[in-house]
Amino acid sequence: MTSEHHVLNPATEQVVATVPAATAADVDAAVTRAAAAQRGWAAAAPADRARLLRRFAAVVDEHVEELARLEVREAGHTLGNARWEAGNVRDLLDYAAGGVERLNGRQIPVPGGLDVTLLEPLGVIGVIAPWNFPMPIAAWGTAPALAAGNAVVLKPAETTPLTALRLAELALEAGLPEHLFQVLPGAGPVAGDALVEHPGVAKIVFTGSTRVGKRIMAKCADRVKRVTLELGGKSPNIVFADADIEAAAAATPMSFLDNAGQDCCARTRVLVQRGVYDRFLELLTPAVEEIVVGDPSDERTQMGPLISRTQLDRVRSYVPDDAAGIRGKAPEGPGFWFPPTVLTGLAPDAPAAVEEVFGPVAVVLPFDDEADAVRLANATEYGLSGSIWTRDVGRALRVSGAVRAGNLSVNSHSSVRYWTPFGGYKQSGLGRELGPDALTAFTETKNVFISTEA
Ligand code: NAD
Repeated sequence: MTSEHHVLNPATEQVVATVPAATAADVDAAVTRAAAAQRGWAAAAPADRARLLRRFAAVVDEHVEELARLEVREAGHTLGNARWEAGNVRDLLDYAAGGVERLNGRQIPVPGGLDVTLLEPLGVIGVIAPWNFPMPIAAWGTAPALAAGNAVVLKPAETTPLTALRLAELALEAGLPEHLFQVLPGAGPVAGDALVEHPGVAKIVFTGSTRVGKRIMAKCADRVKRVTLELGGKSPNIVFADADIEAAAAATPMSFLDNAGQDCCARTRVLVQRGVYDRFLELLTPAVEEIVVGDPSDERTQMGPLISRTQLDRVRSYVPDDAAGIRGKAPEGPGFWFPPTVLTGLAPDAPAAVEEVFGPVAVVLPFDDEADAVRLANATEYGLSGSIWTRDVGRALRVSGAVRAGNLSVNSHSSVRYWTPFGGYKQSGLGRELGPDALTAFTETKNVFISTEA
């Protein structure tokens, strides 16, 4: 019997839709169809593949508002964020389309012949996406995989399947071959696991928790299946005394409150040099208190609800009622609301200071000097992102070199651009997505030597 999953609006707790949950047999059938579609796709002229992906991008562009409103309903994202997310899918498809005709192998000098490398598509790619950025993260794997000549079977998160399902419809509307890009909603341990286990899936692109990512990596090891992991984060925001303190404090709230803190790059460990610690908190307090939390479909809203009751309970467990720090406002009543929260006075190894809370909660910790800042920044099992606020260029470069994380920004909190590489150090992940090499990650390199002496 096919089971179903109710999709809730996290701002109201109302059911938005009910979708069937794929079984292992559904996954098997989808992979078989995808393999057949992939053969034709890989054989098509590069210009034709590029043209179809551009058309897909154009169709997404025509539906940005519809996709954004759907994302607001199923994920509680603010309308502004959701529009950006749908636009990001369009841009990724366009960028990937530009790579189809530039996916070049190499010619390497050898004696006695010609040596060339061929970049061949892997086949069928399984993309397993989380709920925090359902559209962009689905597209990070899907767009370059398709551009490199692969087929994709995407399993969205249980709570957020709707935009992914709509994207699959738009792909068909754009003229992409049937079954080349399929979306199968379902439970992680059922449909997700079936993708991981399936011998016909050449690579898994997983974004989600470190806990599940480790299990998937272990299963992939059994088959030497290719895998990319984008996992958790606990990123530092390092504010040196020589920084523009006003600018640093003004930028801090949204660096951990964007998407209600459900962002793997959220700067949730604010490290502030002791000499400016009090001044920084004085500036940060009103900035956090003024954040507008509420109806995500209201254009003025800066922060919406958490995704689910489970997530709300998890976030609550990190914040005792009598915790010292700063508290913003949040609506009462239905919906999974939690106020913007800054915790102070914690030990650097307190759970809220080292574990990924995945909610609107940051800790502020003081440090003494550059070496102390780097030590604290690296005192976590994660290494995804981080920010460095200083006016000293030498220090910015030294600290950028010393912090063990994949995506750093200086005097900014920017992390993700589709045309620059993204990924984690340590337990934040394995492999890189996006950027100029995104397509290559979906190819196998074959070396061919042709003798001139036969
Ligand atoms: P999750 O690990 O619970 O689930 C992610 C996906 O994996 C979902 O689609 C889920 O259904 C599936 N899944 C669960 N168990 C599975 C199994 N046994 N086999 C196969 N698939 C399975 O994570 P989540 O709660 O949806 O997402 C939040 C996490 O994602 C956070 O830790 C966050 O930091 C991380 N994240 C990382 C990045 C990044 O790029 N590094 C980006 C966004 C989110």
